This record gives sequence, C-alpha cells and structure tokens, in this order.
Amino acid sequence: MSQDIIAIDGPGGSGKSTVARTLAERLGWAYLDTGAMYRAVTAEVLAEGISIVDEEAVVALAAAAVIATTPHVSINGRDVNDEIRSDPVNDNVSAVSAIPAVRVAMVERQRAWAAAQDRGVVVEGRDITTVVFPHAALKVYLTASFAERARRREDESAQALGRRDTADHARTVSPLVQAADAVVIDTTNLSVEAVVEEILSCLRTSN
Ligand code: C5P
Repeated sequence: MSQDIIAIDGPGGSGKSTVARTLAERLGWAYLDTGAMYRAVTAEVLAEGISIVDEEAVVALAAAAVIATTPHVSINGRDVNDEIRSDPVNDNVSAVSAIPAVRVAMVERQRAWAAAQDRGVVVEGRDITTVVFPHAALKVYLTASFAERARRREDESAQALGRRDTADHARTVSPLVQAADAVVIDTTNLSVEAVVEEILSCLRTSN
C-alpha cells in the first residue's frame, strides 16, 4: 500500500508551517518543513563565506550536507535553528533554492526521509504538490493576502517577503504554482484550527 502523504504548498506567511505541524500532531504523522532545509543550506553557504553566485561551490555544499530538521534544524551537526530566520538567510535563500542541482539534492533527501517513516507524513514547501509528491493522497495550496502574510512574519520585513514571493514564483525550476488538483484555502481570516479542520475534512472525503 502506498504511504499516506499530505502535501502543502504556499507562499511565506500563508500558514503552512503552523498548519502542517498541527495537522501532523492531530494525525500522529511525521512532519517535514522543507523550507528549513533550503534555509539551512543557505546559512551554511554564508557561514562558509561561499559566494552565492559560485554555483559549483553551493551545489557541492548542498550535495554533501547532512541536514536534520527536528528537534532543531542543523546542518553538518551545527545547530542553525535561529540563524535560518536571520535577515541574511531571508535575503539569499531564494537564490540558493533556484539552483537546479541544489533542488535535486534536497528533493532526494525529502523523498528518502518520507520513505523512512513508518507512518503518514505531512510535508510543506513550494514544490511539494507539483514535484516532490505529485501523487500525494491530498494536495493543499495555502494562500493569504499580502498584508496578512507580512503581518505574520515577525522576523522578516514586508520588502524581503515580497522579494522572496517574486523570486519563488518566477524561477524557471520548480516555481511556486498551484497544482491543478490542489485544494486551495485562503487563510487570511481563518484560525489555524479552522484550516486544520478543513484539511481533515478533505482528507476524510478523499479516502
Ligand atoms: O517556507 P520558507 O519560507 O521557510 O522557505 C524559505 C525559502 O526556501 C522559500 O522562499 C523558497 O525560496 C525556498 N523553498 C523552496 N522549495 C521548498 C521550500 C522552500 O524553494 N520546497
């Protein structure tokens, strides 16, 4: 039998992480924040003094990196849980994640992580419904007004969020798009609990 997978995509501040984590807790499933992986690679690139435009060096680092996302985000054994929310990481993560070979390395890890779980998984990011798990049991696209998304990002300026939005939508490889068969939920005026309930009810009807 194939594994139970809920795939969630959406822009920054749409509620993906909180909703995915809560959903996983409710279901007793494992949860993966793939944005944290791209952020960890970016933090390490910056810490190593590698230039973001030196694609070869960035790819070599990404391909060899050992990344953990729970209980704390770490890369090559270094705890980067706080560092990944810093301005330099916010400002550079979209460029790092637009490099095709970096994506290949991360997608490989994401699929291997899911395959190693002995229970269902909730995975969230930008390309989960379209590239990583296009055959997931349930695909969800979360969105919200820009003003509300910017309000929710306490650790990032609205300008930086807007720049990431544009870069993530416009990139050639795995851009952020709504999968044709994704359930779209506008979370602007919804509580986390309401979004989780809506997804759970979609899951029940899809089974
Ligand atoms: O989800 P979060 O805002 O933490 O993601 C940070 C960045 O990582 C995004 O702006 C995007 O550039 C990149 N990302 C990605 N693909 C994913 C998850 C995140 O390109 N699956």
